[in-house]
Amino acid sequence: MAVAVSVPRDRLRDPALHAIADKLAQGERLSTQDGVSLFRSPDLLGVGALADAANRARHGDVVTFAANQHINPTNICVLRKTCVFCGYARLPKEEGAYRYSLDQVLAEAEPARNGMTREFHIVGGLDMQAGLEYYATMFRALKREHPQVHIKALTAVEIAHLARIEKLSWSDVLTSLKEAGLDTLPGGGAETFSAAVREQIADKKLGGADYIGVHRTAHALGIRSNCTLLYGHVESFEDRVAHMEMLRDLQDETGGFLAFIPLAYHPDDNELGRRLGREGSASTGFDDLRTLAVGRLFLDNFAHIKSHWIMVTQGLSQASLHFGVNDLEGTVVREKVYHAVGAHTPQAMSLDALLRLIRGAAKIPAERDSFYRILRRFDKAEAA
Ligand code: SF4
Repeated sequence: MAVAVSVPRDRLRDPALHAIADKLAQGERLSTQDGVSLFRSPDLLGVGALADAANRARHGDVVTFAANQHINPTNICVLRKTCVFCGYARLPKEEGAYRYSLDQVLAEAEPARNGMTREFHIVGGLDMQAGLEYYATMFRALKREHPQVHIKALTAVEIAHLARIEKLSWSDVLTSLKEAGLDTLPGGGAETFSAAVREQIADKKLGGADYIGVHRTAHALGIRSNCTLLYGHVESFEDRVAHMEMLRDLQDETGGFLAFIPLAYHPDDNELGRRLGREGSASTGFDDLRTLAVGRLFLDNFAHIKSHWIMVTQGLSQASLHFGVNDLEGTVVREKVYHAVGAHTPQAMSLDALLRLIRGAAKIPAERDSFYRILRRFDKAEAA
C-alpha cells in the first residue's frame, strides 16, 4: 500500500513536483499524468529525493540482495528473427546455438552445492525441442541435488510457449512445473507492453495483456513473480507509464508481484541497435536513475524495486540506492543473456564486493531469500 512521504519543498526545484509531493504526503496514488511529469521533470535530484523518501519509509537503510546463480539452458529460439533487440538467441543450426543436456545443467548448478547460492534463475529461448518434460525433468533433478535452492524459472513468454507447443493451458503448464519444483517466475519478457512498440521491437512475442494473463494465472496458483520493463529503445515516457499502470493494476488485484525490475536496453550486437544507429550508446545514467525512481513512486503497491547491476553498471546501481532502490541483483554466476547484447559489466560479483558497494552508499546490506525475507544483516561490525 502507498505510504505517506514527506520531502522539504526546498529540495524540489521543479514547481511541477510540488503537486506530486503534496499527493505523496497524503499517501495518495499518482495519476498517469503524474508519472509522465516525473519522467519529464528537469529536476532529477527532486524526483530522486521523493523516491528516496518513499523507499526509506518502507525499508529504512536496509538494502537486500539474494545470492543467486543464473542458468540459461538453451539459446535456441523461434523468435530469433523478430525480437530485434535480442543478441542472445540463435536458430537451431546457427553457429553458437546450444541446448544443455540434463548433465550439463547439473554441472552448471554444481557450484551451488558448497556455495551460498540460494536461488537458481533459469531462463532461455523458445526452443521447440525443449518442452514441458525437458524443464520438469530439469527442475526435479535440481531439487533432488540442491533441495535448499529456490527455483525461479521461465518467463511468462516461455510459459506461453510451452503451453502452445504442448497444447495445454497456461494453468496446466504452471501446475506441472510447480509440482516438479518451480517456486517463482522471473519478470523477463515484458519488454514494453505498448502494441505499437512491440510491433517495432518484438513483433511476434507474447503481447502485454497475455504477459499479464500468465502472471495472473501464476498468482492464482500461488506462484509469485517479478516483473520488468525494458526501456531506452523506441518507447515514449507515456508508454513506460502505461506499462507500469498495467503492472500496478494486476498488483492491486492479486498482490502476487514481489519486485519491479527496470531493464536498460543495450544496443550492441543486435538488429535494433544497428537500425537505430545506437551501437555503443546504451541508456544514460540519468535515465536509469529516473526510471528506477519513477518505478518506486508510481508503483505504490510494490514493496521492492530492484536494480540489475549487470545492465547499468555497479556504480550506477550503487547510486540508485538513493533513488528508490532497495534491492540489488545478487552474486550472479555466468550470466549470458545481457552479455550477448553488449553489457560490459563483470559476469559475477563476490559477496565482499557486494557488501562494499552497499556499505559505500551508507546502507546496511542484508541477504534475503527469494520471498524477500531477511536471512541475515551485515551490520558494520559483523564480518562477512
Ligand atoms: S528476447 Fe527471448 S523470445 Fe525474443 S529472441 Fe531473444 S530469447 Fe527469444
